[in-house]
Parts: sequence; structure tokens; C-alpha cells
Amino acid sequence: MDLARFPRIRLGHTPTPLEPLERLSKELGGPELWIKRDDCTGLSTGGNKTRKLEFLMAEALAQEADMVMTQGATQSNHARQTAAAAAKLGFKCHLLLEDRIGSTDANYNNNGNVFLDLLHGATAEYRSSGLDMNQEMEDVAERFRTDGLKVYIIPGGGSNPTGALGYVNCAMELLGQVNDQSLPIDHLVHATGSAGTQGGLIVGLKAMNSHIPLLGIGVRAPKQKQEENVFRLAQATAEKLGCPGVVKREDVVANSDYVGEGYGLPTSESIEAIQMFAELEGLLLDPVYSSKGAAGLIDLIRKGHFKRGERVVFLHTGGSAGLFGYTSSFDLGGIVHTNKNSN
Ligand SMILES: *Cc1c(COP(=O)(O)O)cnc(C)c1O
Repeated sequence: MDLARFPRIRLGHTPTPLEPLERLSKELGGPELWIKRDDCTGLSTGGNKTRKLEFLMAEALAQEADMVMTQGATQSNHARQTAAAAAKLGFKCHLLLEDRIGSTDANYNNNGNVFLDLLHGATAEYRSSGLDMNQEMEDVAERFRTDGLKVYIIPGGGSNPTGALGYVNCAMELLGQVNDQSLPIDHLVHATGSAGTQGGLIVGLKAMNSHIPLLGIGVRAPKQKQEENVFRLAQATAEKLGCPGVVKREDVVANSDYVGEGYGLPTSESIEAIQMFAELEGLLLDPVYSSKGAAGLIDLIRKGHFKRGERVVFLHTGGSAGLFGYTSSFDLGGIVHTNKNSN
């Protein structure tokens, strides 16, 4: 596996820290919890898409593109990080945002990631849910191409074999950290969506002959479908890297019990997870991905699946900007007014 052969532009602050979660571990009374801080990759509030974009944007540059285009849900963290990377590298950026949840909430539609997309100078247009978004992108790209622009299309979530290289790299980084600190780990857990994170991680782990079990907590697709998506991408990524076949079907494990009513719809467990991380650790999860991943982690600890005596690393994939699109999902009470000038 020779990752250095693939063009890469540094966009992230890496290595990201690996830190203990002392108060959360104590509160849950189960395994020793650690967190891998990919929320701290630095690009426009950070997150996991930054690692993928290091390889994707290098490809766009090699193809001499003028514009990058991608798609996602309205509050897409991937769209926001793509807009920021495009700004930094001088590409135009056009986004297709899918109205997946039909929200009329002004914060959901204009604040959080949407605000940042526009702040980075990206242009964006909405699509109603249920369309073939990749076909929509092709159609819009054709429009720009007719105007003479060279368009580089990034699939949703940046999840193709090029983007997944970012998480092969993360697996190498994490194994280096745990080796340096003599910190053997028993499980690695994270939120899985468009599959590039899990697909890249499993290739990296397996290519280095690590036996750390990787668990993706699904945010959208049912278990079987999610595992198949991840496996397909992992196979293609391993092929690209010159180590075909390193990942076996049984290495790919997803748990989709924490999706709730659907993608982008918070659950009482995901809101609880956000509040626990915020109040016990001073950490910000996001409403769509990392909170459902953490809800799964917390529930699996409570059920005894992850046990005392084990060490579990939660990969924090970022997304806190999305919180500002979801403020109406929280009931935090208000601020007490104490009027000292009442007489
Ligand atoms: C996109 C995203 C994920 C899921 O990663 P995939 O590579 O799409 O599976 C998890 N967490 C956050 C915050 C994300 O933005």
C-alpha cells in the first residue's frame, strides 16, 4: 500500500488529537472511552470530509478544473467543507442541496452549514427529495460546461475510492498514535453515512493487518444495505491502492438501530448524546451524524456490548456547525433575567 503515490493537497490540521473521555467514561461506568478528534481538522469548523477533500481536490487540480460541484442534504457538512476547500484553492464551487426532510425551519434552511456555504462564496440550488442527485449533478454540470467551464464532480459525501484514501490515511495515523502511546484499543466506533469513512478505515486497518473491530453506526440506510455500500467502496479502494482483497465481507459491520425516523431527524437518544458530550466533556457533536453514532455507543455500553476493562475509541467526525440549523430540536430552558436596576 503506497498512499504517497496519490496526489494530495494538505487542507487539514493533522494528526488530530486522540484524547481520553474521563467524565463520560465514569458516568457510563463501562469501557475506557477515548475520542479521535476529526472534528478538529480545522477547515471551516472541521470534520471528516476534510481528509477526503485532500485527495479529491488534488485530483481536481490535476484535471485543471475551474469549478467543483457536489451535493448533499440542506445541512450538509460535506458541502460546507467542499465550499471552504474550493475557496482556499481558488475553484468556483456549486452545490446541489437536497431538501430531504422538508423542513420549514428558518434556521435549518439558512443557518449553520447553509450560512457557511454562502459565506465561502459557493453558489447553491435546492432539489426536492427523492431525485437521482448524481444525475441532477451531471445535468447541471453540462450547463456549466456549455458555458466553457471545466467542472470536477465530487459525489455526495466525497465517497469514492479517491476520497476514501483520506480515511486509509486516518487509520494509519490512529495506529501510529496508539502504538506511540502503548495504548491498545479494543474497538473503533463512528457514524457511517455515504460510506467513505468506514470504507477507507477498514482498508487502512486491514492493509496494516490490524484486528481492531470497526463498527459503523448507520444514519440512514438499513444495516444490510449500509454494509454492502461500505464493502463495495472498500473493495474498490483496496484495488486502487494495490492491495485488492484485503477486506473481507465480515470485516464490514454496521448497526442501523439508531437511525430513528430517518436521515437528519434527531431522536431523543441523539439529543441526549449531544447534551452528555456537551455537559460532561465540553464537546460538540452534530445533530445528523456524530450524535447518532454516539447514541449507539452509549446504548451499546448500557447494554453491556462494550464492557469495563475494554478501551473504545470514538472517531468524532465533526459537524458542529449543523447545530445552528437544529436549535429548535433542543429544550435548554432560558436565561434568567435579574434586573438590578429595577428601582
Ligand atoms: C459525512 C459525515 C459522516 C459520515 O461519513 P461518511 O464517510 O459519509 O460515511 C459522519 N459524521 C459527520 C459529521 C459527517 O459530516
